[in-house]
Amino acid sequence: MFQPEQIHEFIVQTCQALGSEPREAELVADQLVAANLAGHDSHGVGMLPSYVDGVVNGRLAVNSHPTVVVDGGSLLTLDGNAGYGQVNGYEAMSMGMERAADNGVAVVGLRNSYHIGRIGHWAEQCAAGGFASLHLVNVIGHPPLVAAYGGAEARFGTNPFCAAVPGRDGRPGFLLDMATSIIAGGKARVAANKGVKVPPNTIIDVDGNLTDDPNAFWYTDPTGKRGGALVAFGDHKGSGLAVMCELLSAALIGGETAHPKNARDGRIINNMLSVVIDPAATGDTETFYDEIELFRDFVLESRLRSDCDEILVPGQPEEIARAERANGFDVDPVTVDQLRTSARRAGITDEAIGALIGNA
Ligand code: NAD
Repeated sequence: MFQPEQIHEFIVQTCQALGSEPREAELVADQLVAANLAGHDSHGVGMLPSYVDGVVNGRLAVNSHPTVVVDGGSLLTLDGNAGYGQVNGYEAMSMGMERAADNGVAVVGLRNSYHIGRIGHWAEQCAAGGFASLHLVNVIGHPPLVAAYGGAEARFGTNPFCAAVPGRDGRPGFLLDMATSIIAGGKARVAANKGVKVPPNTIIDVDGNLTDDPNAFWYTDPTGKRGGALVAFGDHKGSGLAVMCELLSAALIGGETAHPKNARDGRIINNMLSVVIDPAATGDTETFYDEIELFRDFVLESRLRSDCDEILVPGQPEEIARAERANGFDVDPVTVDQLRTSARRAGITDEAIGALIGNA
Protein backbone atom coordinates (compact mmCIF):
# COMPACT_ATOMS: atom_id res chain seq x y z
CA MET A 1 0.00 0.00 0.00
CA PHE A 2 1.25 3.53 -0.80
CA GLN A 3 0.83 6.52 1.45
CA PRO A 4 -0.53 9.48 -0.56
CA GLU A 5 2.47 11.68 0.42
CA GLN A 6 4.93 8.95 -0.57
CA ILE A 7 3.66 8.47 -4.13
CA HIS A 8 3.10 12.25 -4.45
CA GLU A 9 6.79 12.85 -3.73
CA PHE A 10 7.75 10.11 -6.22
CA ILE A 11 5.78 11.90 -8.96
CA VAL A 12 7.17 15.33 -8.01
CA GLN A 13 10.73 14.02 -8.23
CA THR A 14 10.13 12.20 -11.52
CA CYS A 15 8.61 15.31 -13.15
CA GLN A 16 11.37 17.54 -11.82
CA ALA A 17 14.01 15.12 -13.12
CA LEU A 18 12.47 15.70 -16.56
CA GLY A 19 12.79 19.48 -16.19
CA SER A 20 9.46 20.55 -14.67
CA GLU A 21 9.49 23.57 -12.36
CA PRO A 22 8.45 22.62 -8.80
CA ARG A 23 4.94 24.11 -9.15
CA GLU A 24 4.25 22.10 -12.32
CA ALA A 25 5.51 18.90 -10.69
CA GLU A 26 3.25 19.60 -7.67
CA LEU A 27 0.17 20.17 -9.85
CA VAL A 28 0.79 16.92 -11.76
CA ALA A 29 1.27 14.95 -8.52
CA ASP A 30 -1.74 16.63 -6.88
CA GLN A 31 -4.13 15.58 -9.62
CA LEU A 32 -2.84 12.04 -10.14
CA VAL A 33 -2.84 11.19 -6.43
CA ALA A 34 -6.25 12.85 -5.97
CA ALA A 35 -7.65 10.60 -8.73
CA ASN A 36 -6.49 7.47 -6.87
CA LEU A 37 -7.91 8.86 -3.63
CA ALA A 38 -11.24 9.46 -5.40
CA GLY A 39 -11.22 5.79 -6.48
CA HIS A 40 -10.25 6.42 -10.12
CA ASP A 41 -7.05 4.41 -10.52
CA SER A 42 -7.46 4.64 -14.29
CA HIS A 43 -6.59 8.36 -14.07
CA GLY A 44 -4.24 8.19 -11.12
CA VAL A 45 -0.52 7.60 -10.71
CA GLY A 46 -0.62 4.94 -13.44
CA MET A 47 -0.77 7.78 -15.98
CA LEU A 48 2.75 8.93 -15.09
CA PRO A 49 4.58 6.50 -17.44
CA SER A 50 2.69 7.88 -20.45
CA TYR A 51 3.58 11.45 -19.38
CA VAL A 52 7.25 10.48 -19.04
CA ASP A 53 7.05 8.94 -22.49
CA GLY A 54 5.47 12.15 -23.81
CA VAL A 55 8.23 14.35 -22.38
CA VAL A 56 11.07 12.04 -23.48
CA ASN A 57 9.67 11.92 -27.03
CA GLY A 58 9.14 15.69 -27.19
CA ARG A 59 5.35 15.43 -27.44
CA LEU A 60 4.58 16.86 -23.99
CA ALA A 61 6.01 20.33 -23.36
CA VAL A 62 7.30 21.00 -19.83
CA ASN A 63 6.91 24.39 -18.14
CA SER A 64 4.29 25.50 -20.64
CA HIS A 65 1.23 27.63 -19.83
CA PRO A 66 -2.01 28.20 -21.73
CA THR A 67 -1.98 31.16 -24.10
CA VAL A 68 -5.04 33.29 -24.82
CA VAL A 69 -6.33 32.88 -28.39
CA VAL A 70 -9.63 34.73 -28.00
CA ASP A 71 -10.47 37.09 -25.15
CA GLY A 72 -14.12 38.06 -25.32
CA GLY A 73 -14.60 38.83 -21.62
CA SER A 74 -16.85 36.02 -20.50
CA LEU A 75 -15.74 34.02 -23.55
CA LEU A 76 -12.19 32.78 -23.47
CA THR A 77 -10.36 30.45 -25.85
CA LEU A 78 -7.01 29.14 -24.66
CA ASP A 79 -4.35 27.06 -26.37
CA GLY A 80 -2.73 24.51 -24.09
CA ASN A 81 0.37 24.24 -26.34
CA ALA A 82 0.60 20.49 -25.63
CA GLY A 83 1.76 21.31 -22.10
CA TYR A 84 0.82 19.38 -18.98
CA GLY A 85 -2.97 19.19 -18.64
CA GLN A 86 -2.61 19.62 -14.89
CA VAL A 87 -1.19 23.12 -15.43
CA ASN A 88 -3.51 23.98 -18.32
CA GLY A 89 -6.60 22.75 -16.48
CA TYR A 90 -5.72 24.54 -13.25
CA GLU A 91 -4.94 27.84 -14.96
CA ALA A 92 -7.94 27.62 -17.32
CA MET A 93 -10.32 27.07 -14.39
CA SER A 94 -8.71 29.88 -12.40
CA MET A 95 -9.26 32.25 -15.34
CA GLY A 96 -12.79 30.92 -15.81
CA MET A 97 -13.68 31.61 -12.17
CA GLU A 98 -12.26 35.14 -12.36
CA ARG A 99 -14.35 35.85 -15.48
CA ALA A 100 -17.45 34.23 -13.98
CA ALA A 101 -17.06 36.32 -10.84
CA ASP A 102 -17.05 39.45 -13.05
CA ASN A 103 -19.72 38.43 -15.57
CA GLY A 104 -21.84 35.78 -13.85
CA VAL A 105 -20.73 33.17 -16.38
CA ALA A 106 -17.61 32.24 -18.30
CA VAL A 107 -17.28 29.93 -21.28
CA VAL A 108 -13.70 28.70 -21.42
CA GLY A 109 -12.40 26.69 -24.35
CA LEU A 110 -9.10 24.94 -23.71
CA ARG A 111 -7.72 23.38 -26.86
CA ASN A 112 -4.59 21.36 -27.55
CA SER A 113 -3.71 20.45 -23.99
CA TYR A 114 -1.81 17.32 -23.06
CA HIS A 115 -3.99 14.87 -21.06
CA ILE A 116 -6.09 16.73 -18.48
CA GLY A 117 -6.76 13.59 -16.43
CA ARG A 118 -9.83 13.18 -14.24
CA ILE A 119 -12.25 15.91 -15.34
CA GLY A 120 -14.00 15.93 -11.95
CA HIS A 121 -10.81 17.51 -10.58
CA TRP A 122 -11.59 20.67 -12.59
CA ALA A 123 -15.23 20.71 -11.52
CA GLU A 124 -14.05 20.33 -7.91
CA GLN A 125 -11.70 23.31 -8.35
CA CYS A 126 -14.70 25.37 -9.52
CA ALA A 127 -16.94 24.02 -6.75
CA ALA A 128 -14.33 24.86 -4.12
CA GLY A 129 -14.54 28.46 -5.39
CA GLY A 130 -18.37 28.35 -5.11
CA PHE A 131 -19.05 27.95 -8.86
CA ALA A 132 -21.26 25.48 -10.72
CA SER A 133 -19.66 24.15 -13.87
CA LEU A 134 -20.01 21.81 -16.78
CA HIS A 135 -17.28 20.39 -18.98
CA LEU A 136 -17.35 18.65 -22.35
CA VAL A 137 -14.14 16.97 -23.48
CA ASN A 138 -12.71 15.10 -26.47
CA VAL A 139 -9.58 13.02 -26.73
CA ILE A 140 -7.33 12.90 -29.77
CA GLY A 141 -3.73 12.17 -30.66
CA HIS A 142 -3.93 8.43 -30.41
CA PRO A 143 -6.29 6.25 -32.47
CA PRO A 144 -9.99 6.59 -31.57
CA LEU A 145 -11.18 4.19 -28.87
CA VAL A 146 -14.99 4.14 -28.99
CA ALA A 147 -17.36 2.95 -31.72
CA ALA A 148 -20.43 4.98 -32.71
CA TYR A 149 -23.70 3.16 -31.93
CA GLY A 150 -24.04 0.33 -34.48
CA GLY A 151 -20.39 0.47 -35.57
CA ALA A 152 -17.60 -2.06 -34.90
CA GLU A 153 -14.68 0.35 -35.40
CA ALA A 154 -13.59 3.12 -33.07
CA ARG A 155 -14.42 6.61 -34.29
CA PHE A 156 -13.92 8.88 -31.27
CA GLY A 157 -12.39 9.00 -27.80
CA THR A 158 -13.97 8.24 -24.46
CA ASN A 159 -15.11 11.90 -24.51
CA PRO A 160 -15.99 12.66 -20.89
CA PHE A 161 -18.90 14.79 -19.74
CA CYS A 162 -18.79 16.37 -16.30
CA ALA A 163 -21.07 18.73 -14.36
CA ALA A 164 -21.05 19.79 -10.73
CA VAL A 165 -22.98 22.06 -8.38
CA PRO A 166 -21.18 23.25 -5.25
CA GLY A 167 -22.30 22.34 -1.76
CA ARG A 168 -22.43 24.78 1.14
CA ASP A 169 -18.98 23.82 2.40
CA GLY A 170 -17.24 24.41 -0.93
CA ARG A 171 -17.25 20.73 -1.90
CA PRO A 172 -19.45 19.63 -4.81
CA GLY A 173 -23.05 19.10 -3.80
CA PHE A 174 -23.35 16.80 -6.79
CA LEU A 175 -20.62 15.84 -9.22
CA LEU A 176 -21.30 13.80 -12.33
CA ASP A 177 -18.04 12.93 -14.06
CA MET A 178 -18.12 10.18 -16.64
CA ALA A 179 -16.60 8.83 -19.78
CA THR A 180 -19.21 8.44 -22.53
CA SER A 181 -17.97 4.88 -23.09
CA ILE A 182 -19.40 2.30 -20.66
CA ILE A 183 -15.91 1.90 -19.22
CA ALA A 184 -13.05 4.40 -19.51
CA GLY A 185 -10.08 3.34 -21.68
CA GLY A 186 -7.84 3.41 -18.60
CA LYS A 187 -10.12 0.91 -16.87
CA ALA A 188 -9.47 -1.57 -19.70
CA ARG A 189 -5.71 -0.94 -19.20
CA VAL A 190 -5.98 -1.52 -15.44
CA ALA A 191 -8.06 -4.71 -16.00
CA ALA A 192 -5.56 -6.02 -18.57
CA ASN A 193 -2.69 -5.28 -16.14
CA LYS A 194 -4.50 -7.11 -13.34
CA GLY A 195 -5.49 -10.02 -15.60
CA VAL A 196 -9.21 -9.57 -14.85
CA LYS A 197 -12.25 -9.24 -17.10
CA VAL A 198 -14.14 -6.02 -17.76
CA PRO A 199 -17.97 -5.93 -17.42
CA PRO A 200 -19.85 -7.89 -20.11
CA ASN A 201 -20.57 -6.20 -23.44
CA THR A 202 -18.28 -3.21 -22.85
CA ILE A 203 -15.77 -4.02 -25.61
CA ILE A 204 -16.22 -4.91 -29.28
CA ASP A 205 -13.60 -7.35 -30.58
CA VAL A 206 -11.92 -7.19 -33.97
CA ASP A 207 -14.69 -9.36 -35.47
CA GLY A 208 -17.40 -6.97 -34.28
CA ASN A 209 -18.60 -9.10 -31.33
CA LEU A 210 -19.28 -7.83 -27.82
CA THR A 211 -16.90 -9.20 -25.15
CA ASP A 212 -15.61 -8.82 -21.58
CA ASP A 213 -11.94 -9.49 -22.51
CA PRO A 214 -9.85 -6.30 -22.02
CA ASN A 215 -7.13 -7.75 -24.27
CA ALA A 216 -9.57 -7.64 -27.21
CA PHE A 217 -9.47 -3.85 -26.90
CA TRP A 218 -5.67 -3.75 -27.24
CA TYR A 219 -5.58 -6.38 -30.03
CA THR A 220 -3.36 -5.55 -33.00
CA ASP A 221 -3.19 -7.92 -35.97
CA PRO A 222 0.15 -8.89 -37.57
CA THR A 223 -0.09 -6.03 -40.09
CA GLY A 224 -0.38 -3.53 -37.21
CA LYS A 225 -4.11 -2.98 -37.79
CA ARG A 226 -5.82 -2.22 -34.52
CA GLY A 227 -8.93 -4.17 -33.61
CA GLY A 228 -11.27 -3.64 -30.74
CA ALA A 229 -13.31 -0.69 -29.59
CA LEU A 230 -15.09 0.42 -26.45
CA VAL A 231 -18.89 0.54 -26.42
CA ALA A 232 -20.55 3.94 -25.82
CA PHE A 233 -22.95 3.97 -22.83
CA GLY A 234 -26.70 4.18 -23.37
CA ASP A 235 -26.84 3.01 -26.99
CA HIS A 236 -27.57 5.88 -29.42
CA LYS A 237 -27.96 8.42 -26.58
CA GLY A 238 -24.47 7.99 -25.10
CA SER A 239 -22.97 7.74 -28.56
CA GLY A 240 -24.78 10.98 -29.46
CA LEU A 241 -23.50 12.74 -26.33
CA ALA A 242 -19.94 11.65 -27.21
CA VAL A 243 -20.37 13.12 -30.68
CA MET A 244 -21.55 16.45 -29.22
CA CYS A 245 -18.60 16.44 -26.78
CA GLU A 246 -16.33 16.01 -29.82
CA LEU A 247 -17.84 18.96 -31.67
CA LEU A 248 -18.43 21.40 -28.81
CA SER A 249 -15.13 20.80 -27.00
CA ALA A 250 -12.94 20.81 -30.09
CA ALA A 251 -14.43 21.92 -33.42
CA LEU A 252 -16.11 24.94 -31.80
CA ILE A 253 -12.85 26.31 -30.37
CA GLY A 254 -10.36 25.50 -33.12
CA GLY A 255 -9.32 22.15 -31.66
CA GLU A 256 -8.96 18.90 -33.58
CA THR A 257 -11.57 16.16 -33.86
CA ALA A 258 -10.79 12.47 -34.19
CA HIS A 259 -10.95 11.98 -37.98
CA PRO A 260 -7.76 10.64 -39.63
CA LYS A 261 -6.80 13.89 -41.39
CA ASN A 262 -5.66 15.08 -37.97
CA ALA A 263 -2.20 13.78 -37.04
CA ARG A 264 -1.76 10.87 -34.64
CA ASP A 265 1.68 10.75 -33.13
CA GLY A 266 1.08 8.99 -29.83
CA ARG A 267 0.28 12.15 -27.89
CA ILE A 268 -2.77 12.22 -25.60
CA ILE A 269 -4.40 15.55 -26.37
CA ASN A 270 -7.62 16.79 -24.75
CA ASN A 271 -9.82 19.69 -25.77
CA MET A 272 -12.31 20.92 -23.17
CA LEU A 273 -15.20 23.38 -23.24
CA SER A 274 -16.09 24.54 -19.71
CA VAL A 275 -19.02 26.66 -18.64
CA VAL A 276 -18.43 28.21 -15.21
CA ILE A 277 -21.46 29.80 -13.51
CA ASP A 278 -21.62 31.97 -10.39
CA PRO A 279 -24.76 30.94 -8.44
CA ALA A 280 -24.82 34.36 -6.80
CA ALA A 281 -25.37 35.91 -10.24
CA THR A 282 -28.14 33.58 -11.42
CA GLY A 283 -30.38 33.53 -8.35
CA ASP A 284 -30.42 33.34 -4.60
CA THR A 285 -27.45 31.34 -3.31
CA GLU A 286 -29.09 30.23 -0.05
CA THR A 287 -32.13 28.91 -1.91
CA PHE A 288 -29.79 27.14 -4.34
CA TYR A 289 -27.98 25.35 -1.49
CA ASP A 290 -31.29 24.53 0.26
CA GLU A 291 -32.68 23.03 -2.94
CA ILE A 292 -29.53 20.94 -3.48
CA GLU A 293 -29.77 19.53 0.06
CA LEU A 294 -33.53 18.88 -0.03
CA PHE A 295 -33.29 17.25 -3.43
CA ARG A 296 -30.34 15.08 -2.32
CA ASP A 297 -32.33 13.87 0.72
CA PHE A 298 -35.39 13.19 -1.44
CA VAL A 299 -33.34 11.09 -3.89
CA LEU A 300 -31.58 9.12 -1.15
CA GLU A 301 -34.78 8.42 0.82
CA SER A 302 -36.34 6.44 -2.05
CA ARG A 303 -37.27 2.76 -1.60
CA LEU A 304 -34.70 0.45 -3.20
CA ARG A 305 -35.22 -1.29 -6.53
CA SER A 306 -35.50 -5.04 -5.91
CA ASP A 307 -32.11 -5.86 -7.50
CA CYS A 308 -30.19 -2.96 -5.86
CA ASP A 309 -28.89 -2.58 -2.33
CA GLU A 310 -28.13 1.14 -2.18
CA ILE A 311 -28.78 4.54 -3.75
CA LEU A 312 -25.96 7.01 -4.26
CA VAL A 313 -25.94 10.46 -5.81
CA PRO A 314 -23.30 11.38 -8.41
CA GLY A 315 -20.08 12.23 -6.60
CA GLN A 316 -20.87 10.07 -3.58
CA PRO A 317 -18.78 7.07 -4.72
CA GLU A 318 -15.77 9.41 -4.87
CA GLU A 319 -16.53 10.76 -1.37
CA ILE A 320 -16.71 7.17 -0.06
CA ALA A 321 -13.42 6.24 -1.79
CA ARG A 322 -11.70 9.30 -0.26
CA ALA A 323 -12.78 8.24 3.21
CA GLU A 324 -11.60 4.65 2.61
CA ARG A 325 -8.28 5.60 0.99
CA ALA A 326 -7.25 8.54 3.17
CA ASN A 327 -4.44 6.52 4.73
CA GLY A 328 -3.21 4.90 1.55
CA PHE A 329 -4.13 2.93 -1.53
CA ASP A 330 -2.90 -0.13 -3.39
CA VAL A 331 -1.37 0.08 -6.84
CA ASP A 332 -1.20 -3.14 -8.87
CA PRO A 333 2.31 -4.64 -9.36
CA VAL A 334 2.37 -4.13 -13.15
CA THR A 335 1.67 -0.42 -12.69
CA VAL A 336 4.32 -0.16 -9.93
CA ASP A 337 6.85 -1.75 -12.31
CA GLN A 338 5.87 0.75 -14.99
CA LEU A 339 6.33 3.59 -12.47
CA ARG A 340 9.85 2.37 -11.60
CA THR A 341 10.76 2.06 -15.29
CA SER A 342 9.48 5.55 -16.03
CA ALA A 343 11.46 7.03 -13.10
CA ARG A 344 14.62 5.34 -14.45
CA ARG A 345 13.87 6.86 -17.87
CA ALA A 346 13.64 10.24 -16.15
CA GLY A 347 17.15 9.67 -14.77
CA ILE A 348 16.34 8.72 -11.17
CA THR A 349 18.70 6.12 -9.68
CA ASP A 350 17.47 2.72 -8.51
CA GLU A 351 18.59 3.65 -5.02
CA ALA A 352 16.45 6.80 -5.01
CA ILE A 353 13.49 4.90 -6.50
CA GLY A 354 13.83 2.28 -3.77
CA ALA A 355 13.87 4.99 -1.11
CA LEU A 356 10.70 6.55 -2.55
CA ILE A 357 8.49 3.58 -3.42
CA GLY A 358 10.60 0.54 -2.54
CA ASN A 359 12.20 -2.01 -4.85
CA ALA A 360 10.20 -5.01 -5.98
P1 NAD B 1 -17.59 6.06 -13.23
O1 NAD B 1 -18.43 5.18 -14.09
O2 NAD B 1 -16.82 5.41 -12.14
O3 NAD B 1 -18.50 7.18 -12.58
C1 NAD B 1 -19.27 8.03 -13.40
C2 NAD B 1 -20.14 8.94 -12.55
O4 NAD B 1 -21.19 8.18 -11.97
C3 NAD B 1 -19.42 9.61 -11.39
O5 NAD B 1 -19.88 10.93 -11.28
C4 NAD B 1 -19.85 8.83 -10.16
O6 NAD B 1 -19.92 9.64 -8.99
C5 NAD B 1 -21.23 8.37 -10.57
N1 NAD B 1 -21.57 7.08 -9.99
C6 NAD B 1 -20.85 5.94 -10.00
N2 NAD B 1 -21.52 4.95 -9.42
C7 NAD B 1 -22.72 5.46 -9.03
C8 NAD B 1 -23.87 4.93 -8.38
N3 NAD B 1 -23.93 3.65 -8.01
N4 NAD B 1 -24.91 5.76 -8.15
C9 NAD B 1 -24.86 7.06 -8.52
N5 NAD B 1 -23.81 7.62 -9.14
C10 NAD B 1 -22.76 6.83 -9.39
O7 NAD B 1 -16.57 6.93 -14.13
P2 NAD B 1 -15.99 6.63 -15.59
O8 NAD B 1 -17.02 6.87 -16.64
O9 NAD B 1 -15.34 5.29 -15.56
O10 NAD B 1 -14.88 7.75 -15.71
C11 NAD B 1 -13.70 7.65 -14.91
C12 NAD B 1 -12.89 8.88 -15.01
O11 NAD B 1 -12.24 8.94 -16.27
C13 NAD B 1 -13.62 10.21 -14.89
O12 NAD B 1 -13.03 10.92 -13.84
C14 NAD B 1 -13.38 10.91 -16.22
O13 NAD B 1 -13.23 12.31 -16.12
C15 NAD B 1 -12.11 10.28 -16.64
N6 NAD B 1 -11.87 10.36 -18.10
C16 NAD B 1 -10.91 11.21 -18.57
C17 NAD B 1 -10.65 11.24 -19.93
C18 NAD B 1 -9.59 12.15 -20.49
O14 NAD B 1 -9.30 12.04 -21.68
N7 NAD B 1 -9.00 13.03 -19.75
C19 NAD B 1 -11.36 10.43 -20.80
C20 NAD B 1 -12.34 9.60 -20.26
C21 NAD B 1 -12.60 9.55 -18.92
